[in-house]
Amino acid sequence: MECAEPDCTRSAAVELHIPWAENRHVCAAHARVLGQQDGVVADPHPESGPDLLEDSS
Ligand SMILES: [Zn+2]
Repeated sequence: MECAEPDCTRSAAVELHIPWAENRHVCAAHARVLGQQDGVVADPHPESGPDLLEDSS
């Protein structure tokens, strides 16, 4: 599956749960950006490998 953001062709690695919109599947880079918004929960796909979002912990 590809990242849902326009003009991004990376593989989706994370499902974003967005309270005001449909859930979307995005790459790790976009998940970092979009996941900063209040209420958004980033749910990494288990099959995409560990630790994609770990740099903020
Ligand atoms: Zn992307």
